[in-house]
Amino acid sequence: MIPSPVIPEAFGGRRYNVYNEWAKKHYGGRLQKISVDAGFTCPNRDGTLGFGGCSFCNNEGFSPGYLRQERDLGRQIDTGIEFVRRRYPRARAFLAYFQSYSNTYAPLERLERVYGAALAHPDIAGIVIGTRPDCLPDETLDYLADLSKRTLVELEIGIESCSDEVLAECRRGHDFSCTRDAFHRAAQRGLFLTGHLLLGLPLETRESLLQGARALAALPLDALKFHQLQIIRHTRLAECYLAAPGNFPLLDTESYFDGVIDILEWLPPDIKIQRLGSEVPPDVRVSPDWGMRLDGFPPRFESRLLARDTWQSRLRVARQKG
Ligand code: SF4
Repeated sequence: MIPSPVIPEAFGGRRYNVYNEWAKKHYGGRLQKISVDAGFTCPNRDGTLGFGGCSFCNNEGFSPGYLRQERDLGRQIDTGIEFVRRRYPRARAFLAYFQSYSNTYAPLERLERVYGAALAHPDIAGIVIGTRPDCLPDETLDYLADLSKRTLVELEIGIESCSDEVLAECRRGHDFSCTRDAFHRAAQRGLFLTGHLLLGLPLETRESLLQGARALAALPLDALKFHQLQIIRHTRLAECYLAAPGNFPLLDTESYFDGVIDILEWLPPDIKIQRLGSEVPPDVRVSPDWGMRLDGFPPRFESRLLARDTWQSRLRVARQKG
């Protein structure tokens, strides 16, 4: 079916497909993620591919403080739920979110044990697993596909960039063909797939971003998360930035949102947008603050879409019609 060149009705009056709106309808309510840390590592850190990780990575920037103090998964979930209930008193359903490092980078028996422990918690309705594309052997995907028949499973794969040049510069340790291959093998098994994208990495240009948008549109994505590059302490990028902050090209809010929109215009309308940015604690960030809390991203983004009079899938539609 060729979509019409107007804002799709399924967006419910918005200009893009908002994951939370979709989740409310699909799952019957908002699902609140509870970050957990099961102590996995990553092949880009343990020496298998490299030491020191990707140039931008310091998981402290993205992990809630309680994960640093508590190793027991059940207690991490209890603490996380308590915290989330204070902030969102109406939250009812919770997903354990394996966020830090590469959460499929372990033998299958360990994965079964760890995911099983999270799913055994009485308040947990499913799991979200963040990982790298090169940590998804068929055996793991088969297991996750089987698990997803019994419970809610979302697999979140780090794409970061579709440009091999950018991926090499940030010492990612895999190229985009690896990402493409992982998405297709996972999609063949019917898994719900979210991609994680980072805008503002060194060597990324508007041209590479637009090329990437076409590549993303061809991936079997169910959802996509956008993040702005923030420079975190104790990373390779922080060393470069602190050596000469004035020479380091950083996106401002406007150019970041324009980059997200440039991609969004090419995406199929059924890809749900899960996130438009992230917030890290000020004490771990060395790049300038945008002065915007997480809940400030969607309204600013909507205003920018309105100002450009555009929406998700607009150019894809134009190309199909043309
Ligand atoms: S970003 Fe992910 S893949 Fe890269 S070093 Fe950090 S945990 Fe590993």
